[in-house]
Amino acid sequence: MPSEFDLIHRYFQWPVTHTDLGGGDDAALITPAPGHQLAVSADMLVEGRHFFENAEPEALGWKSLAVNLSDIAAMGGVPRWAFLSLALPAVDSAWLDGFARGFRACASTFGVDLAGGDTTRGPLTINVTIMGEVPTGMAITRGGAQAGDEVWVSGQPGRAALALWHLRDGTALYPTMRDDCMAALHRPQPRTGLGMGLRGLASAMLDVSDGLLGDLGHILASSGVGVRLREAGLPTALLLTACGDAGLAHKACLTGGDDYELLFTAPAAHHDAVEAAAHTAGVPVHAIGTLVSSNDGCCIQRISGRMETLEMRGFDHFTSDH
Ligand code: ADP
Ligand code: MG
Repeated sequence: MPSEFDLIHRYFQWPVTHTDLGGGDDAALITPAPGHQLAVSADMLVEGRHFFENAEPEALGWKSLAVNLSDIAAMGGVPRWAFLSLALPAVDSAWLDGFARGFRACASTFGVDLAGGDTTRGPLTINVTIMGEVPTGMAITRGGAQAGDEVWVSGQPGRAALALWHLRDGTALYPTMRDDCMAALHRPQPRTGLGMGLRGLASAMLDVSDGLLGDLGHILASSGVGVRLREAGLPTALLLTACGDAGLAHKACLTGGDDYELLFTAPAAHHDAVEAAAHTAGVPVHAIGTLVSSNDGCCIQRISGRMETLEMRGFDHFTSDH
């Protein structure tokens, strides 16, 4: 049975590239680049709540870091340093091996140093703290949106939800799209390039973790505005080819969580520049609506032209059913 220190050394220490002193001492030493602020965020994944008990460890390792990188992307930052705190019920070397491999693959793909953490015995819980850099004053918060701004979303939100509903409830997915949806759920791709490219263009931004509508509600609340979405602008075509059910595709797109796409607003004058930034980042973006005054509330224009009031509710760990 390896000791705690053998375990840390074996699985969670590898060379750092931009950290003055990495794991192994009482604290890491880090010098942020001059003229930058640190963007710092933490996310916890609990077995049975955020992932299934039999979750594949390598995918879990990837996802544990990826969801944190997404938070830095959503601020317009560059992810730089991660800290990994683990509670493990037992030392399972096959599990640790897979988990560390997935975590490390994500860290090296996005240029992040694992600079430390903590390891203890307990019910399987994974906590990652991420630190990124953003040029001082350039971070994109949730609070800068204004009436008249366009609302954008990246990629194809809803794929992860379709995969989850497939695994949990048996929702049928066409084989051609099943892998694509599973990849969205298990190996989310944080939109770091797009996030950085939107500095100076987006007025507000966040990443969609709890569903497009609920997360958009956070921007509306922080910025004090309302919204008019256009159903015709929603990126549901791919979802429809996955599940063959227009109603389900619509629901997945608007309420599905876990895709880690970026949802942002930008003045209409930046429309072309936003598209150019997305093109450079290699990520599709979709203009899905316009912000209005908060007095005008939240509604969606259906494809038929009819206006419907929207309820801006996302997933909430304390009020949602599961
Ligand atoms: P201390 O007892 O001083 O808190 P620890 O035993 O918690 O030290 O950790 C020893 C070293 O190993 C520290 O540098 C810590 O950052 C690192 N470390 C511990 N657990 C992990 C982990 N899961 N991933 C990466 N580094 C870790
Ligand atoms: Mg400690």
